[in-house]
Amino acid sequence: MIIAVDGPTASGKGTIARALARHFGLPHLDTGLLYRAVGWHVASLGGDPDKSEDALAATAFSNSLLDDPALRSEDVGALASRVSVHPAVREALLQRQRTFAAQPGGAVLDGRDIATVIAPDAHAKLFVTASIAARALRRFVEMQARGEDVSRAQIEADLAARDARDSARSVAPLRQAEGAALLDTSALPPAAAIAAAIALVEKQTAS
Ligand code: C5P
Repeated sequence: MIIAVDGPTASGKGTIARALARHFGLPHLDTGLLYRAVGWHVASLGGDPDKSEDALAATAFSNSLLDDPALRSEDVGALASRVSVHPAVREALLQRQRTFAAQPGGAVLDGRDIATVIAPDAHAKLFVTASIAARALRRFVEMQARGEDVSRAQIEADLAARDARDSARSVAPLRQAEGAALLDTSALPPAAAIAAAIALVEKQTAS
């Protein structure tokens, strides 16, 4: 069983994808981490994330980088969003994601283009979203807990910029795939969002 979970930043898709993987006993790939690794690596090489050749060179990152907590920062998220607009970068990361999806028994993948590009034949497809205010509040609480000093207005502006870039790019833009179930988590605590996601996957895979 392949489960595709797409959605914007801080929508809850990562939490939901991890919980679905646990519930259904499947391996999970957070594909955003691959783009984050490219963004981090291009900066560490002194390259320009907006130049396709520089970003492509940075796709040769070492696998151990994927475990580095530094990839989770907002700055690296913004770099990831910039490198991810280059078709050559997306192409370089494509096979790795398809191979993960095709493993025996299935898998859960979360990202922006899982149901549209990586695994269009997934057995279950969710598009997880939430209002920008709810997403900014979640990010604000997480960042405050880490002792980072940012304003909610700044977070909201950064999220809006990232949404615009992810949705407007010509290759694999963020959008709800045909046949994907919409899950709006704006008013849902994590446990309720997870329960709703499990119910949607069960419904999609029962038919
Ligand atoms: O999901 P996360 O915030 O970690 O993703 C970081 C960035 O990587 C996104 O803003 C998006 O630009 C890019 N991305 C993508 N396709 C994916 C996953 C992430 O373009 N499948």
